[in-house]
Amino acid sequence: MAIRFRTISAFVLGMCAVSPSLFAQDYDLLLKGGHVIDAKNNIDGVMDVAIKDGVIAKVATDIPIASAVKVISLTGEYVTPGLIDIHTHSWVDQPGMLEHGVFPDDFTFRNGITTVVDAGSSGWRTFSEFKAHIIDHAKTRVLAMLNIVGAGMIGGAAEQNLSDMQAEPTAAMALKYPEIIVGIKSAHFNGPEWLPYEQSVKAGTAAHIPVMIDYGARRIERPLSELLERVLRPGDIYTHMYSGHRGEQDSQTGGPGKGMKEGRARGVIFDVGNGSGSFSWAVAVPLVKAGFLPDSISTDIHVHSMNTDMKDLLNVGDKFLALGLPLKDVIADMTWHPAREIQRPLLGNLSVGSPADVAVLSIQHGSFGLQDMYNTVLVGHDRMVCDLTVRNGKVVYDLNGLTGEPWDAPPSAGNRQSRRWTTMNERGFGTARPTPQAGDKPTQPQH
Ligand SMILES: [Zn+2]
Repeated sequence: MAIRFRTISAFVLGMCAVSPSLFAQDYDLLLKGGHVIDAKNNIDGVMDVAIKDGVIAKVATDIPIASAVKVISLTGEYVTPGLIDIHTHSWVDQPGMLEHGVFPDDFTFRNGITTVVDAGSSGWRTFSEFKAHIIDHAKTRVLAMLNIVGAGMIGGAAEQNLSDMQAEPTAAMALKYPEIIVGIKSAHFNGPEWLPYEQSVKAGTAAHIPVMIDYGARRIERPLSELLERVLRPGDIYTHMYSGHRGEQDSQTGGPGKGMKEGRARGVIFDVGNGSGSFSWAVAVPLVKAGFLPDSISTDIHVHSMNTDMKDLLNVGDKFLALGLPLKDVIADMTWHPAREIQRPLLGNLSVGSPADVAVLSIQHGSFGLQDMYNTVLVGHDRMVCDLTVRNGKVVYDLNGLTGEPWDAPPSAGNRQSRRWTTMNERGFGTARPTPQAGDKPTQPQH
């Protein structure tokens, strides 16, 4: 047997020497010829991206076709890191808040998103339930900000209950799940007290994570300038930045208020969080004109916002293209910038060794009416469309069948190894799908 084994080895080695391409398929998937935008690595040009075992294996100008099991030709497309939406509401069956959250996979892959952050649906008392019901089941990477309210975001009096806003148990839960919990959230508070924000910052400090603030009702007792200049730390996140609800805009100039400018100078982060009532052109246009750009672009998607002026993350990104931001900056605001904000340096980039989460986008040109919360419209001329999404090295969404083959052609070698690069069903070959015979039990197709 030993002799026979050696013989086969020699035969295989001999084949390699004769025809290296047959044995040199180092990569599972090669995204070929697309325009790569990767802010972390300063890439904004045509490059190939090779993927193996769920991680980025190589990014270079000309990676040979023969080196991959499957090659997808992406000439004319943009190839970006999988998008990150850091303001979502993803707990679809949350007790007390049914019909609020949206299950992540329902909206993510079709929009190029591979990571979402749930912004405070759960608090320390309810996080375990959220994790068991949603986080552990979604194919999307779901990270979470814990609500400073122990009961979580369940509306009504519970979200105003100061006695349930405690830094210690909140920080303890965050420290128990550092791989999932990336921040602390305060939202919807109507009272005059500073306590929700102070407890949030205290929890964030103890758990070494940022806080995100939805600043609730506008109260004279707690002006925005003081939140941004005194209470928040550098790296903390102010969401709904273009809402105009809490004095973001200077009443004289229309540009950013003093607190906004001081906050930014201190290192406070400003996030869009479009939602159903938090994006106004009358605020966004003058602030952007004055150079007050977003640090991150996010949706604030939930059941009641996803069919309003906010359709999805790419639609919110389109608004910033319409405001004149270059595509590469808009992509950075949906990839590397939010990754940095939530301290996840392996996400939002295409560095070798990073998870192979990738979005493939194309741009449609035309006249596109972009709404705000008051149904006023700004016309844009570019619309981003997600054509393909890769999550952990496998294609999870393919709008135009870019990865497919003609139905009546024999399967290629790449498609015979489809389990290495796609989550779709493998084709039946030859005897793999036998013709049913009389008396056979019915077989259950995979669905
Ligand atoms: Zn929200």
